[in-house]
Amino acid sequence: MSASVKSILEEKGRNVVTVGPSVTLAEAAKVLYENKIGAVVVVGMEGRIVGIFTERDVVTAIGRNGPEGMGQPVSTVMTANVYRCSEEATINDLMEVMSSRRFRHVPVEKAGKLCGIISIGDVVKSRIREIELEAEHIKAYIAG
Ligand code: AMP
Repeated sequence: MSASVKSILEEKGRNVVTVGPSVTLAEAAKVLYENKIGAVVVVGMEGRIVGIFTERDVVTAIGRNGPEGMGQPVSTVMTANVYRCSEEATINDLMEVMSSRRFRHVPVEKAGKLCGIISIGDVVKSRIREIELEAEHIKAYIAG
């Protein structure tokens, strides 16, 4: 049985680092660096999700426009069509989505409000724990 997003958030916390759409790419990159994270959720009025900006997008921006372009607003490079999930989603659901769509972050929403974020690191940690538990059960069964 796969763990729910809700159980992961209860353990890791629900804090999500966000920025507004008009901060510059350089400022958004600084937020990633200072918080030691790979993604920020871009929020508009009333905390609505309007995009996601990750370290991959920093590379895209520099590759496309060179370092001079880092003064542009984050809204010019962020991904606006954000895949999000509810707390009822399972880690297996997210593993499937992250590998098929090739991204490593999924914001969690409850009643239209941002209430957490799951990264590929959280997914891997949860899967390792499940596999270890399964192995313990099998060993206990064999030892009888
Ligand atoms: P990542 O692997 O999370 O660093 O992201 C790779 C690319 O996918 C970047 O261009 C991100 O903006 C985009 N991305 C990341 N997470 C999501 C998401 N949940 N929904 C849509 N796009 C995303």
